[in-house]
Amino acid sequence: MIIAIDGPAGSGKSTIARMLAKHLGFNYLDTGAMYRALTWKAMQKGVALENENALCQLMDQTTLELRCKDASLNVFIDGINVTKEIRLPSITNNVHYISNTHGIRQRMVKLQQRFAVEGNVVAEGRDMGTVVFPQAEKKFFLDAEIEERAQRRYADFKPSTSEISFDAVIKDIEIRDRRDTTRNNSPLVKSSDAIYINTTKLTIEQVFNKILKEIESSVKK
Ligand code: C5P
Repeated sequence: MIIAIDGPAGSGKSTIARMLAKHLGFNYLDTGAMYRALTWKAMQKGVALENENALCQLMDQTTLELRCKDASLNVFIDGINVTKEIRLPSITNNVHYISNTHGIRQRMVKLQQRFAVEGNVVAEGRDMGTVVFPQAEKKFFLDAEIEERAQRRYADFKPSTSEISFDAVIKDIEIRDRRDTTRNNSPLVKSSDAIYINTTKLTIEQVFNKILKEIESSVKK
């Protein structure tokens, strides 16, 4: 079974996807982490981020691994654990180059589809329901108002980098939203058969229970 979860930054999809994977005993596929890891490698190697050929060549010489244990995910690129590094602002600010490169997306989609061959999976990203797993048994599109999404991100950042202002977080999310929804390659869009959930006024538990109910009711059918 494949459960596809898409949505913009801060919509709660990562937290929900992890919880679901743990609860159901499914594998967890964090596709954003894959784009982030390749961004990390390209920056380490000094590869020009606008150079499609160089990026594709780089990806062809790369081994990407997601190792999931319970709800925690470790991301390895060429055997190096980059789980923490890929969350740095420098990666978040540059990942759009990689994620809007056609040849990279083609390769990533293949890897992601291969991941799902290994068993049941909860997959999260921007194009899970539309491009990677159009056949997914269950699709969800999580969303929330921008202030709420920024608030969640701000709460994540605050303990470690208190110099980041709330306004800066809102601006950053606006830029990412615009880039992800207007890009040429697999823009973020709700699949017509995905269940839309606005999480603005919901707790994580409420979202989780809502989704679980949907999954359970379709399994019973
Ligand atoms: O989900 P996360 O914030 O980690 O994703 C980082 C970036 O990777 C997104 O802003 C988006 O540009 C890209 N991405 C994508 N397609 C996916 C997952 C992530 O383009 N399936």
